Amino acid sequence: MNLCLASLGGRAHLVDPERTFAVDLERMSDGRFSADPMANFGRWDELRDFARLVQISGNVEAVPVTPELLDAPAPRPTQLVAVGLNYRNHAIEFGAPIPTSPVTFTKFPSAINTPNGDVTLVGETCDWEAEMVLVVGRGGRDIPRNKAWDAIAGVCVGQDFTNRTLQMASQPPQFSLGKSHKGFAPFGPWVVDAATLASRDSLDISCTLNGEIVQQANTKDFIFDVSEIVAYLSSIIELRPGDLVYTGTPSGIGQSRTPQMFLKPGDTVVTTLEGVGSITSHCI
Ligand code: ZN
Repeated sequence: MNLCLASLGGRAHLVDPERTFAVDLERMSDGRFSADPMANFGRWDELRDFARLVQISGNVEAVPVTPELLDAPAPRPTQLVAVGLNYRNHAIEFGAPIPTSPVTFTKFPSAINTPNGDVTLVGETCDWEAEMVLVVGRGGRDIPRNKAWDAIAGVCVGQDFTNRTLQMASQPPQFSLGKSHKGFAPFGPWVVDAATLASRDSLDISCTLNGEIVQQANTKDFIFDVSEIVAYLSSIIELRPGDLVYTGTPSGIGQSRTPQMFLKPGDTVVTTLEGVGSITSHCI
C-alpha cells in the first residue's frame, strides 16, 4: 500500500489507504523501523518500500484510527519554517506588495498541536490561515529545484493560527511570536507520501469556520511553488528530517473581511487538503 504515517499514542503507525485502520510500525516491522515518528523521516524511501509490502486489512494488529485519536505526526521538528504571502490574492488582501522572494518566518515548535486539539485564543484578534505543510524527508542543503520533492517526505494539512495584534505589534513587524502561542500550530492528521500524490503541485485547500467556507483555493496558485521554496530555503539553511514547512495561506483570512472577523471561544475551524484529509481545531 502507499505510505501514510501517523502518530497514535506517541508511536509511529502506518495508515491504510481508506484511512480507517493503522498498524504499529515498530511491531509490524519487527523493530526495523522506530516507534518514534521522528526517526523515520530520514529513511522515507526505505519506509515507502516497506509499506508497499504491508497489508492492513485482515491484520489482527490493526486498530481503528480517526483524526480525533491522533497526535501530531512529526512532533519534534528541529525547525518549523513558514512562508508568508504566498498566494497573490492573500498578499493583496493583506495590503502587502507581491513578494519577489519568499517571505519567511518561523512558528516555534512549542506551538505544535494535535490534529483535533483545543486552541486557547489570546486577545481579540486571533485569525485562521489554512496551509499545506511539508514534512522534510532526507532534506539537505543546496537542493536543486528538480530534486526538491525528493527531499520532502510528505504533506499534511495545517493551520497557521495567528494573533494579528502581536504579529503587527512592532515596526518593522515580526511575525514569529504572534504565530507561536500554545497550540497555534496544528497539522496532520497524517503524513501522506508526496511521491504517491498524483497532483502534488495542484491540491485543493479550504477552511471552514463553524461549517461556513472562509477560504478555498488550490496550491497551483502559489507564488513560489514547493520546488522554489525548498531550493530557496536549502540555499540558506539545512533542512533536516522531520522539519516542517508551512507554505502560506490563500485569501479569506478574518482580518481582511468587511467587517473584520476574528475567532471566538466555541468556534470550530476545519482545514482540508485534497488527498490528505482534514484537521479540526476547537477554539476555547
Ligand atoms: Zn501563514
